[in-house]
Amino acid sequence: MIKLPEPVEDVVVNLLRLANTKLPMDIGWALEAAAGWETNEIAYSQLGAIMDNVKKAEHIGRPMCQDTGIPVFYVRGRFDSTISDSIRAGLERATKEIPLRPNTVDPLTRENPGNNLGQGMPIIHFIPTADDFTEITVLPKGAGSENMTRLGMLNPADGEAGIKRFVIDAVLDAGGRPCPPSIVGVGIGGTSDVCVAMAKEALLQPIDEENDDPVLNRLEGELFQSLNSSGLGPMGLGGSTTVLAVRIKKAYCHTASLPVAVNIGCWATRRASAKISDSGVEYSQGVKL
Ligand code: SF4
Repeated sequence: MIKLPEPVEDVVVNLLRLANTKLPMDIGWALEAAAGWETNEIAYSQLGAIMDNVKKAEHIGRPMCQDTGIPVFYVRGRFDSTISDSIRAGLERATKEIPLRPNTVDPLTRENPGNNLGQGMPIIHFIPTADDFTEITVLPKGAGSENMTRLGMLNPADGEAGIKRFVIDAVLDAGGRPCPPSIVGVGIGGTSDVCVAMAKEALLQPIDEENDDPVLNRLEGELFQSLNSSGLGPMGLGGSTTVLAVRIKKAYCHTASLPVAVNIGCWATRRASAKISDSGVEYSQGVKL
């Protein structure tokens, strides 16, 4: 086990602060680029308002959106079982100190513990590796975009055309509710649970990098073009910028299955990562699992 140079609880507070107050640079650049090509006046003003909001949030160190989401954590590398308690403690502190909106409730009684904890919270995915570091990544996920998640168990005969139709329908049916311009995370293959998880993980991939898989890279480009030709636009008010990017992950699946999942990230797709090693803690927002 590696000796961590800083308490994990402190790292988690810093991570949540970074993710909530600073939009990743690749997403900021994509918003600026979109403002450069938008000819629709309302779309242009919406993009301007979003960018203004992002700048102010970073300047004053406050969350860029009132819905600070439910933080989804990914822990990769070497770690021991105490890391879950440290993440919980860090989240509870961050909720008070940043502050974050207490979003978690009992699904039936709707009782809110007030600290973003509760049964099953926070969600932590563990990816053990033999590396000499521990990497903690957080993806705070707001409800507006999360509620638009869709899973389809397609017929294998539906093929690429069926996958594209499914993704386009999911984004257009969502309309303005996930606060576009969006980043569209897509999972293809696996089992139903893995497919939905991949769609969310796809949102962690920097949007200014090409997909390593040439087929997925082509599909991402084709979906990007189709969705931005739809006219939905920023906040669903019209324009040429419905999505900032489409990111796809895939896994092999059963020969009789073709699972497809869509997880939409709003304009405030927040992510941050901390790599903890003997030499210290390195924070970044260009995350790739
Ligand atoms: S969808 Fe995103 S931008 Fe819209 S309210 Fe939720 S967190 Fe905020």
